[in-house]
Order: sequence, then C-alpha cells, then structure tokens
Amino acid sequence: MSISNHKTVKEYTRRSLNESSMTKWNWYRHINWVNLTVIIILPLLALYKSFDTPLTKNTLQFSISYYLFTVTCFQAGYHRLWAHRSFTATSSIKFIYAVFGTSCGLGSIKTWVPIHRAHHRYIDTEKDPHHIRKGLWYSHFGWIILNPKVKVKNSIKECYGDDLDNEKLIDWQSDNYHELAILTGLLIPCLICGIFWNDYFGGLIYAGVLRAFIIQQNSFFVNSIGHVLGTQPYDDRKSHRNNWALSFLTFGEGSNNFHHEFSADFRNGIHWYEFDPVKYHILSLYYIGLVTKINRTADTSIVQCLLQQEQKLIDRKRSQLNWGVPIDRLPIISSDEFTKWAKEIAPERALVAVAGIVHDVTPFVNDHPGGISLIKASIGKDATSAFNGAVYDHSTAAHNLLATMRIAVLSGGTEKIVWKQQQAENKDVPLKQDSQGNKIVRTGEQATIVKKTFRTADAA
Ligand SMILES: [Zn+2]
Ligand SMILES: [Zn+2]
Repeated sequence: MSISNHKTVKEYTRRSLNESSMTKWNWYRHINWVNLTVIIILPLLALYKSFDTPLTKNTLQFSISYYLFTVTCFQAGYHRLWAHRSFTATSSIKFIYAVFGTSCGLGSIKTWVPIHRAHHRYIDTEKDPHHIRKGLWYSHFGWIILNPKVKVKNSIKECYGDDLDNEKLIDWQSDNYHELAILTGLLIPCLICGIFWNDYFGGLIYAGVLRAFIIQQNSFFVNSIGHVLGTQPYDDRKSHRNNWALSFLTFGEGSNNFHHEFSADFRNGIHWYEFDPVKYHILSLYYIGLVTKINRTADTSIVQCLLQQEQKLIDRKRSQLNWGVPIDRLPIISSDEFTKWAKEIAPERALVAVAGIVHDVTPFVNDHPGGISLIKASIGKDATSAFNGAVYDHSTAAHNLLATMRIAVLSGGTEKIVWKQQQAENKDVPLKQDSQGNKIVRTGEQATIVKKTFRTADAA
C-alpha cells in the first residue's frame, strides 16, 4: 500500500493547502487544530485545573512510574525500533511499545516515523519537517501546530518506507490510534489512580495529560535545543549536537550528534557517563531473549569520525596561528644580495640567515634570552650552526618564532637551501597539508632545524 492511500499520513499532510504566507485573514487555515489541542490547549487546561487539584503522594509516584514506562515505550519502540530499525524484538514487546507509545499523544507509528525519518534524511534543509534554521520556536513545536508546506509533505511521503506497511501490528495501531491514545493516555491513569486510591481527577491531570505534555515537550527539546546547544564530537557540518542535560530530560535521547551519525545503532549515549537508560532497557531485554537482535556500530567507525572531527578542529585552530610566510612564497635572493642588504641597504635591521632562509629578527633582538650580543654577532651572516647546536640548541618554540620572522630564501651558498633538500627527501610532503590545504609543520620538522648536519660537522 502506498503512502498516498494511507489515512494517517494524509491526516497530517492534507492541510498543506498552499504556500501562501500567514496573514490576519488566513492564519486559522495554517493551524493544525487537532495538534494544537493535544499539544497546547489540553495541557494548558490541565495546568489550570492542577492549581485546585492536590497532587497526592500515590498519584505522584504513579505519574513518575507511568512517565518512565511510557517514555521508554516511545523512545525504544517508535524511535529506535520502528524509525531506525536499530534492534528487533518479539511480538509481545512490540505490542506493548505500540499500545503504550500512543499515550504520548505524538501520533501513530505510521504518522511519526516518516516525519522523523524525513528529519534525519533532510536535516537542516527546507525539506526537514522541524528545520532548525526556521528558528527555535518553529523547530520546537511550531512545525507540529502549523500545517506542513508542500516540500515537507513530499519529503515525509518519500520517507515512508514499505516496512511500515508490512507489519500487521502497525496497521492495527494506526487504525485504532485515537481509541488507544485515549485509553492509555487518559483512561488508564485515571482509572488506576481512581480505583486504587480514589484520585480519578488527579490521575487524569497528572499521570494523564501533564505526563504526556512533559514527554512531548522533552521530545521537542531534542528537535530544538538538540540542534542549537551542545557539543559536536562526531561531525559539525550539520546542526545536531550532544547535550547531556537533554539526555536526562528525554530519558537518554540527548546524544543527538552521535545519533544523527549512527542512527542505526541501538544506543544513543555510548559512554558510561552519557545517560541512556533506554539502551540498558534494550540490552536487558536482549539478555532475556525478548529482543532478538541489536545493531551496534563498530568501534573503529566511531573512532574514525571522532578523529576526523578532531583533525578538522586542529586544522581550524592551526590556520588561525602565524606559522610564518610559506617558504615557497618568499622572494629568492643571492648570498651577495643578502650580505649587501644586511650591511649596506638596511643596516638598521637585524637580518640573519638560518638554513638558507633569511630572517628579520629586529623586533626580537632586545628580547633574546641569550643576550643581544649573540644575535648581533650573527647579523648579515649564516647562523645555521649557531642556532642548531654549535652555540645553543634552540627549542621547537624558538624555531616556530623564527619562522614568523622569515623574509627571503637564499638561492645559493654553502647552505644549498636546506628546506628544498628536506622537501625532496620527504616523500610524505603531499600528505602534510591540512583539510584547508595549509602546510602542516609538525614539531621537530621546522625548516630551520638541521640538527644532524651540524652536530656531525661539530663532531668532526
Ligand atoms: Zn535531530
Ligand atoms: Zn532518530
């Protein structure tokens, strides 16, 4: 059966009447009144009534327990099982997920799953149902109380997989969604609190409507805050972020950066410090045989993404630092020109050659830890040997600093342009570029370091 024949998705999309912008004359036609009632009006009424409805200890305890149970059914069932097929479960477990997942008031599996799949596939584009670039309010719940635009409607249709038509349980849940939602979302909490401790209304308000409201809002927070605030250890090209606070609110759905990268993984938080009780729930069922298969991403794939992202950040940081003018962009001068320049043309500048590269160290002369006289003795001369160990074996930091003062390259002389030799000998040179094409200067590989050559010379 194709999506176009299916009534539940039609219900969600049929009001995408036009692409016209909202005005004071047509605003009511842009509103999805059913969703507005379930998401906003009903919870506000419940909140209002809660002021004169005492919250008893028994009702509070039941509300929390029922919240944990139903949020698990939604996150494990709707999200990780049906939307992402990250594990397979026995019929009994799927039945419980399907029935009690409706208590959250977020639609049937056939309605919610294609929307969520469209979000994953078209994240950060106009086809994303809760496109974060349309603003925090829109990505939070604006998208659900406004009728979808044609682009979004089409992307949701595209993301409706055949798998949703091949399971009788999903068909049955969809056909009976409203009855099931009223039964599990309102009647069951109302009757349990009423029959066992005579608090029918408290059960309806707290364990029914407000519990569902909290689950809905927390789920929306993943769509809004989870795409704005948090870390991006796996990939920062899109908006998805890890947010530990969201993990607590959503019972384990806060590691959104990991989830968008590895959505077929049954886990959301992979580290012990990431709060993901739904993962342990699935694992527990797996150990007792009620979950039959779990998908776990290979550690190497995860580490690859982590390293690529770390490398990208390192490259970004590196590009912001002064590593000196790249040697191949420096003017080339002869040894005679260098001498003339240092002694006659610009005697006020402190020009020193190290490893075939001319440096203007004037700003640094007075700060030289080894004293002014040592530098002055090298002006207009080749200081390669002195700089690399004959007088003092300079640190990596000193070589980095020297690089920022380079102004020219010597075309001849005894140094033979050491940097060229180094490059010619080093077969790895093409790889020593970051993702932005900038040369990477690793520690100990600065062009002015020629330790071995001169140590050998000294020994001789
Ligand atoms: Zn997301
Ligand atoms: Zn997902």
